[in-house]
Amino acid sequence: MRYGETGFNLEIDLSRGNIERVESDPKLTELHLGGLGTNAKILWDRVPPETDPFSPDNLLIFGTGLLCGTPAPGANRTILTTYSPQTLLMAYSMMGGFWAPELKYAGYDKVILRGKSPNLVYIWIHNDKVEIRDASHLHGKGAVETQELIRQELKEPNAQVAAIGLAGENRVYTASIEQGRSSASRLGIGAVMGDKGVKAIAVRGTRDINLARPAEFFDLCGDVLKYIKFRNENPVPNVMTILQGLGSPQEMLHVDEKWHTENFSWGNSRARRKEFWTKEVEDKWKETQLTARKRLISCYNCPMKCGAIIALPGMSTYMMKCFTKLTYTMAAFVDSLDFGFRIAQRATEYGVDGFSTPQIMAFAFELKEAGILTDEDFAGCPSDNEGRFYWLLDRIVRREGIGDVLANGTHWAAQQIGKGAEAYAHNNIKKHEQLPLKLGMLNPVYFLMYATGEKINITQIEGQFPQSPFATMEEREDFIKDWIQVPDEKFKQIVLDWEMRGERSNPYYPTPEMSCDIVDWQEKMHYIDDALGVCAGLSSFPLKPPYHIHNYPHFISAATGMDIDEAGLTQVYKRNRNMVRSINVRRGLRRADEVPPEDHWKKRFPELEAKLLDEYYKFKGWDNQGIPTKEALQELDLGYVAEDLEQRGIIKNEQD
Ligand code: SF4
Repeated sequence: MRYGETGFNLEIDLSRGNIERVESDPKLTELHLGGLGTNAKILWDRVPPETDPFSPDNLLIFGTGLLCGTPAPGANRTILTTYSPQTLLMAYSMMGGFWAPELKYAGYDKVILRGKSPNLVYIWIHNDKVEIRDASHLHGKGAVETQELIRQELKEPNAQVAAIGLAGENRVYTASIEQGRSSASRLGIGAVMGDKGVKAIAVRGTRDINLARPAEFFDLCGDVLKYIKFRNENPVPNVMTILQGLGSPQEMLHVDEKWHTENFSWGNSRARRKEFWTKEVEDKWKETQLTARKRLISCYNCPMKCGAIIALPGMSTYMMKCFTKLTYTMAAFVDSLDFGFRIAQRATEYGVDGFSTPQIMAFAFELKEAGILTDEDFAGCPSDNEGRFYWLLDRIVRREGIGDVLANGTHWAAQQIGKGAEAYAHNNIKKHEQLPLKLGMLNPVYFLMYATGEKINITQIEGQFPQSPFATMEEREDFIKDWIQVPDEKFKQIVLDWEMRGERSNPYYPTPEMSCDIVDWQEKMHYIDDALGVCAGLSSFPLKPPYHIHNYPHFISAATGMDIDEAGLTQVYKRNRNMVRSINVRRGLRRADEVPPEDHWKKRFPELEAKLLDEYYKFKGWDNQGIPTKEALQELDLGYVAEDLEQRGIIKNEQD
């Protein structure tokens, strides 16, 4: 009997219309856990590095985390893995909501799509019954609308449906997959789903998941729930509001947006508006948010309520996620939050990433102002800030006119447009748009996380270590006194010694060695979450979360029966980290790609930055191009990966 997981994957060949239920190898669970770990292993084994993201040979893997469907609070993530059309590297985006637990209750750990359907289809998974169904009547339908239409058609109000909108159908590189109260938005996952001709996957499952030691597991879950209650009642003091608690930054709960609106950049990640948050704006925005927000909602089995149902006159209801309420508003230079809620509704139905898409539009209007794009490119475009954003969004998702160029993201659009447009695509890492955040002094920890992160999304890398030093020794001592999440006491000393100014301040403190240690810890937690399917909002993202390196091994053991401790779990993390790195190295990733946006910090330190990268690569057991060494891979039972890299001349030639 398999515990924690179902032990079966669903393999669907869309070109042939073939569906198979395939037993997975339990050894792979021991080596990689599930979710991201086993997804990466499958991608490595089965998709050659030469494969184009839009080739029928590319896979699109919907992988549930190992703990999804168990009673572990917040274990609801689906990890989607493929080759990204935007970065050309491995994409792993994830969605919360309800889909992953439902898939496990239907009897599967993963759905693996290969090939391409000649016609638009959707997939219906109902326990043992799996069908590929015609979706021609859903062409052009919204991603949220599609979910409801499919539920009605199937007469299954409890089916969980992951769907793409028009953007995915048209292979827009920022296309998302939307599901209930969440979405997988980054890296063009929805474009690959659209390319495969799949409009949606609907799931209904009614089976149980076996737990190896249920009583122990329930006790552990009880402890997590107790901690969540405690933390909600006792926010972390002396840090900004969004870092005080748990979950996502609680954008639907908080109405005070002074910090974001005055510190994040407006337009094409250019302008700071230091005096924006006046009393008048605060009152108006508060009223708008409280009117639009019908109720706060959670993902499966989580008390945190990070999302909200949004409804405004004249538009259909949708779920607002996290930071999207500000991204369109700020990119468009619009002072009204009402605009943010309304355009986000349209964008959610189209199914696009709410971080990249507004930046692409702001980039386009900057190119117009600079005379690089012309009036002809914008023929028929309204002149007001709100109108022109709606106009361009419609064109991007339809790939009409200039929208067709912009649909590939700022990096590729700039290359195609030329005439100096590259300089305006100034907020990318590895060809992908980042948070519109521009800062003063280089922070060495963040430099490393930005440069080397394989998820290519800063909000998914940071976490349990503070973002900046505390002002006073009292605050530092107060912070570390109940910091049970630290893997080692040495991190407390770094917090005690870290100053805002002077010798022990950014950029030279934390030192490169300390910075590598800190980044490794943050990465470790994210990689474990992504293998277990636990929401980062309860683990790797907040400063003091209920899940951490000390209690995770108990969860895994009690769920699966596997004998695993902190050292063993760390080894799995390193294996998964090196597997992801090797996939990307085989796709061509090198040191030259690991560059944060030039203007992310005003003050840059080229020598220090080079040293940071050198130290980080050394810390990881990689060479100075960021390529894992043969020895490092062999120690992680990845000798076959080393052999492959050697045969391709990547290890031998370059490391010599
Ligand atoms: S913490 Fe928030 S985003 Fe995470 S599972 Fe809970 S409700 Fe969803």
